[in-house]
Amino acid sequence: MSGAIYALIVNACVAILFAATFAVLRASYPQQRATGWFCATYAIGLLTPISELGVRFTSTPLLFTATSYLSLVISTLCFTQGVIVLSGRVPPRAVAPAIAAIALVGRVMLDDSTRNTIGYGLVYQFPFYAMLLLCTIIAIRAVRERCDPWWAGLGVVFAVTASYFAVKPVFAAVFGSGETMRDYADSSYALLSQALGGLLMITSALSVLLMIVRSILRSTRVESETDMLTCIANRRGFERRARTAIAAARRTGEPVAAILLDLDHFKQVNDRFGHATGDAVLHAFGQALTCALPPSTLVARLGGEEFVALLRGANLRDAGRAAAAIRAAVARLGPELPEVTVSGGIAELRPHDTLVTLLDRADRHAYAAKQAGRDRIYPALSSAT
Ligand code: GH3
Ligand code: MG
Ligand code: MG
Repeated sequence: MSGAIYALIVNACVAILFAATFAVLRASYPQQRATGWFCATYAIGLLTPISELGVRFTSTPLLFTATSYLSLVISTLCFTQGVIVLSGRVPPRAVAPAIAAIALVGRVMLDDSTRNTIGYGLVYQFPFYAMLLLCTIIAIRAVRERCDPWWAGLGVVFAVTASYFAVKPVFAAVFGSGETMRDYADSSYALLSQALGGLLMITSALSVLLMIVRSILRSTRVESETDMLTCIANRRGFERRARTAIAAARRTGEPVAAILLDLDHFKQVNDRFGHATGDAVLHAFGQALTCALPPSTLVARLGGEEFVALLRGANLRDAGRAAAAIRAAVARLGPELPEVTVSGGIAELRPHDTLVTLLDRADRHAYAAKQAGRDRIYPALSSAT
C-alpha cells in the first residue's frame, strides 16, 4: 500500500475523532451553536478520504470522484459557517454558499480538462482557498472589533490553510497528481496533499476547539458568579472582583468604600405577600441598586436579603451620597410591589484593611442602623451632597 493510502486512512480516523468530539460538545453545551457546524464539518469531511479510497479500490470511480469533491466542498462550507457563528458576526449570508455553488459548476466544467495544469488546479481548489480566505477576513474583523489576540492566532491558521490550498495547483503541476483520479492515490502529490492537508485539518480543528472551550469556560464562570434571582453578582463573583478592585486601589491610591445593605423585616414581606412577591422585591432591589449607583460599582447579593455595593474611587462622603440614592431607589421599587425599607452600613477602605475587615466594619454599622430603628444607613452622611 502506498503512503498516500495510509494518510487517507489516518485522515479518516482523525475526522471521526473530531466529529465525535464536537458532537459531545454540542450535546453538552447546546448554546455553543458553532459546535454543530464543526461536527458536520468533520462528519461530512470523513466522506472525502473514504471516497478517495473508493476511487482507488472499487469499480465505480466516477461516483466516488463526485462524492469526494462534493463532501469536501460541503465540509468546508460547514467549517466556514461554524467560524461565522463563533465570531458572532454575520457577513453577507450568501457569500459562502455562493462560493460553494460556483465551485461545483467549475468542477463539472473541469471534467474533461487535462489534470496537472495550474489552471485546472486553481479551479479545482477554488472553494477551499476562497472559503478559508473568508474565514481569515472574519478573524481579522474579530481582532479589530474585540482586540482579542486569540482571534489573531485563528486568523494565522486560516491564512496558512488558505495559502496551502492556493499553492496546491503548483504542487500538482510539479509532482503530477496522476493521469486519472484512480492514479491519484498512488501519486507523490497525493501523499503530500493528504499529509499536509491532514496536518492543517488537525490544526484548524484544535484551534476552533480551543476557542469553544474558552467560551464554555467563560460562560461557566459568569454563571457560577451570577445570582439567578436578581441577575447581579453573587458572593463568589463579588469576592473575586472586589479583591481585584481593592488591589488596584492600593496601587493607584484611589479610595474605595463599601455599603452593606439588609432589607428590613423581610420575613414579614414573605409572610404577608408570599414568597414569590418576596422574590420579585429582591429582583427589583438588585436592579434598582445597579441603576442608582455609578457603572463602576460592584453590586452583589451576598445571600438572602443582604446586598453589597463596592464603590471604586469613592470616599466616605461619596458613599454617603450613594446611600441616599439607594434609599430613594428603594422607595420606588414599583407600584405592584409592597413598600420596603433598607438598613445598611458604610465603611471606607483603610491602609491595612482586607476585604473581610472592610465588610466587617460596614456590617457593624449596619447592625447599629438596625438597632437604631431600621430604614437608615450608618454613618448617616447623606446631607453631604
Ligand atoms: P431584619 O429587619 O432584622 O433584617 O429582619 P428580616 O425579617 O429582614 O431578617 P431575618 O433574617 O429574620 O429574615 C430574612 C428573611 O429573608 C427570611 C427569609 O425567608 C427571607 N429570604 C431569604 N432569602 C430569600 C429568597 O431568596 N427569597 C425570598 N422571597 N425570601 C428570602
Ligand atoms: Mg439579613
Ligand atoms: Mg433583613
